[in-house]
Amino acid sequence: MPRRRFLASAATALVGGRLVNRALGAPLLPMAELNAGAPLIVSTWPFGKPANEKALSVLEAGGTGLDAIEQGIHVTESDLSNPSVGLGGIPNADGIVQLDSCIMSGPGHRAGSVAAVSGFRHPISIARAVMEKTIHVMLVGEGAEKFAAAHGFERGPKVTDGQRAAWKRWKAAKAKEAAAAADSKKRPAKNHDTIAMVMLGRGGDIFGGCSTSGWGYKVPGRVGDSPIIGGGLYVDNEVGAAGATGIGENVMRYCGSFLVVELMRQGLHPQEACIETIRRIAKLDPKGFDLSINFIALDKRGRFGAAGTGTGFEYSVTCGAFSKVVQSPGLTSADIGPLGGNRK
Ligand code: ASP
Repeated sequence: MPRRRFLASAATALVGGRLVNRALGAPLLPMAELNAGAPLIVSTWPFGKPANEKALSVLEAGGTGLDAIEQGIHVTESDLSNPSVGLGGIPNADGIVQLDSCIMSGPGHRAGSVAAVSGFRHPISIARAVMEKTIHVMLVGEGAEKFAAAHGFERGPKVTDGQRAAWKRWKAAKAKEAAAAADSKKRPAKNHDTIAMVMLGRGGDIFGGCSTSGWGYKVPGRVGDSPIIGGGLYVDNEVGAAGATGIGENVMRYCGSFLVVELMRQGLHPQEACIETIRRIAKLDPKGFDLSINFIALDKRGRFGAAGTGTGFEYSVTCGAFSKVVQSPGLTSADIGPLGGNRK
């Protein structure tokens, strides 16, 4: 049976009752691979694969889970051809790249986060320093930049030449648009992504990190879900971890990654937890499944999964046995049926 039809039929079985179909994740990878165990690294999008592989190599060289997350995400942040992570990202409406990032350690349940940071190459490292060197969890904007400067973090341009030229074209086109007042409420074109990385490390400890430049041409100062603990990332060392990518506003209003982890705590397979989280959000949200949100997750047992709205998305999975890009299930109202909820 084609994968899509399998998912549709499996999902239909969910409509009447609770999400109990444990076969839902089965077509994605054989069980032997699902049971590959630690270390296991899962991240969003195909660009997560080299980041995962770097993270694995850090672990194999004896690095800590936090070292692995940080150095893995550096790979993506350093790629200036990536328009949605790091200083190669699309700038905000003022032509400045503002970066959001967070990191979480299962051991100690520690977290660090920065938002709307400009001119520094590795926001994930600044987030880690917030966690390790301050009593706070989150620093934003100018304060985060002062902190980064004081700790000697590597600086970079506030926007690359290529993105600046594209921004000028965008600005010229926007100037021609009528109804500028309504413009800031427009849904963005597909000009945003995030690396969210979750890891089951040695000894069963769990870690995660997130980094993004957010929506291209966003309102200056806008902060998405990625640096919000429980929104774009959540780690619970007793259960597992989850991360998100997509339109942050549709994740952070529901504490999306926290919800995925809580559903795993109740016994759901990581993939089921991602699916059920999307179903729950779609049920409440006036937009239904038209949300453009995606989740990845792994649990303490070394199982993993993902789900997205629409056609789903590609994510990367790396462990000692393999490293590959996997297609997630995609959920639409056709898959899960009428939801009711808040939609008019
Ligand atoms: N979630 C990110 C944000 O809203 C963007 C993305 O992952 O596509 O900033």
